[in-house]
Amino acid sequence: METIRNFCIIAHIDHGKSTLADRLLEITGTVESRRMHAQYLDQLDLEQERGITIKMAPVRMAYHPELGISNFEFRNKENNPAAAQNSKLKIKNSGSEYILNLIDTPGHSDFAYEVSRSLNAVEGGILLVDATQGIQAQTLSNFRAAKAAGLTLIGAINKIDLFKDRNDHALAELRKEVAELLGIGPEDVFMVSGKTGEGVEQLLSAIIEKVPPPKVANSNFKFQISNLGRALIFDSFYDDHKGIVASVRVFEGAFEREDPIVLAATGTEVKIKEVGYFSPQPKAAQSIKKGEIGYIATGIKDTSKVKIGDTVLMIPKPYTIDPQTLALPGYREPNPVVFVSFYPEDADDYENLKRGLEKLHLNDSSLHIEPDQNEILGRGFKVGFLGKLHFEITAERLEREFDARVVSTFPSVVYKIVNKGKEEFITKPEDLPNEYDEIWEPLVRINILVPSNYLASVLSLQNKFRIEDLTTKTVVNSIDIEAIMPLSELVSDFDDQLKSATSGYASFSYEFLDYRKADVVKVDNFVAGEIIPGLSRFFPRESVEREARKMVEKLKITLPKQQFPQALQAKISGKVIAREDIPAMRKELGNFGKNGGDRTRKMKLWQKQKRGKEKLKAMGKVRIAPEVFKELIKK
Ligand code: GDP
Ligand code: MG
Repeated sequence: METIRNFCIIAHIDHGKSTLADRLLEITGTVESRRMHAQYLDQLDLEQERGITIKMAPVRMAYHPELGISNFEFRNKENNPAAAQNSKLKIKNSGSEYILNLIDTPGHSDFAYEVSRSLNAVEGGILLVDATQGIQAQTLSNFRAAKAAGLTLIGAINKIDLFKDRNDHALAELRKEVAELLGIGPEDVFMVSGKTGEGVEQLLSAIIEKVPPPKVANSNFKFQISNLGRALIFDSFYDDHKGIVASVRVFEGAFEREDPIVLAATGTEVKIKEVGYFSPQPKAAQSIKKGEIGYIATGIKDTSKVKIGDTVLMIPKPYTIDPQTLALPGYREPNPVVFVSFYPEDADDYENLKRGLEKLHLNDSSLHIEPDQNEILGRGFKVGFLGKLHFEITAERLEREFDARVVSTFPSVVYKIVNKGKEEFITKPEDLPNEYDEIWEPLVRINILVPSNYLASVLSLQNKFRIEDLTTKTVVNSIDIEAIMPLSELVSDFDDQLKSATSGYASFSYEFLDYRKADVVKVDNFVAGEIIPGLSRFFPRESVEREARKMVEKLKITLPKQQFPQALQAKISGKVIAREDIPAMRKELGNFGKNGGDRTRKMKLWQKQKRGKEKLKAMGKVRIAPEVFKELIKK
């Protein structure tokens, strides 16, 4: 274990995490140069195209400090640009090969829980900061999480190739800031370029030198169990043949094929199908041992059984102790907080949508999926997400990877209602009962990091987004604004408006805080006396009239005229709070003869039309086409 190093890269989005990983893969010869392409570990098309990491694959690299490039297969003493450096290294065991495991930390707050699991699987991290962008909110929030997890952090400034002069004043200043954040001297902050590879080898050496070898949880003694095996699941993915494959960090014992295991949280018992490492493609191995990072293929097909943060246990039978008590700390059930209903744009696409969601769910157990039904849009699914980005990514993947075109409702957060002392969670406005005592809304703690000259711009958003309890503190050269706000405000338009108010200089991170009693009401929309399903929404009472007005006005310009007049009404508990009208379509009565026509015939026709209208009205069906509905739910 002395020659194992487990680490992650912590960075704000776009600061160069994936590109740096590319260089590490190259230097260690993990991926042959001719097979190398940019952002190698970003395996999804969407990631490659948008250039954001949704999930970066974990990877196991081998590095020999004295030989430089070294790898199981590509070891090559001659072709070795690093050899020249070895004299400078202060590494113990520099004559042996080190195993370096790099695992991912998805940068965005939506995935904060997964980040926390990843951080618990490693001992160290590179805090990577873009030289042109400086420290940003995700840098800071991930830094704080990493510190809380007890990781050894190495500071590095990336993209230095963008500065002609390596002694540039701005670079030196940023180096000081990063040093200050980490509580180290500026000279200990590494200057690198993931693009050119400059400084990357020194950084690699620093990982070996500074990050401690794996810590091992030692519970054998406490529980008096010999041959105990424990591994933390920090990620999982699905394989058609091997079922759900758990990415794990082994803390105790060793795992092999055919070993009987039990998953602590769900109590599921299976025999291991295969174990192995990430190279970065999964590669089978004889065993994975304590301190190591690798995978355990479970053969399980049901995603609800293998959960991120859970512990894989190997306990000799019969159990003398409840497996749950042996679980590694920190597990919690991922709770979806934003719900959206998806319907196929074309009803024929339902199966496609279903298949797409099922497939995505196999690799993303945090998605919560249940069947749903809407009178206009037909059969669909209500899907729960960890946040707005999670929703957006999923919708985009459905369309790209499964060609499933969907109409989705407004994202709704989860409300808690209290009724006669009983609690109930409402994930869809239509589900709100008529009577209840209280309604509670979810709150988040938000941290907004912004250059001080933009502080006022952020404060100007305070009322609009119901931001409260705001405090500021200086973090190096920026202001860290900490506040509380309702999650519903965060998922509305907050990110866009913050961006435009601060010219893109502000960044934020958030975490779920709690539910709080709120003055929130549900607005239903009616056309000609009929409720429009899927269009109901919750609003804070203070802004409900404005929002209701906006909606009826939108209905007025969007809905086509009918044979009869249509009243457009927004109601709260049956009480109208906004109204517009669409007059009836006038039907040409035609030409009834040269002299103004036969009056009785004309009257008859009128009568007939009137009856027709009444009949239509009595039937009460205003058919709203899916295209129209889609228009209505646009921002
Ligand atoms: P990530 O979101 O942290 O994974 O960032 P990426 O690795 O995807 O990089 C974001 C963008 O910065 C991409 O366009 C990269 O090509 C670019 N980039 C990354 N590292 C460097 C670097 O060292 N120098 C320069 N000039 N660009 C870089
Ligand atoms: Mg990336």
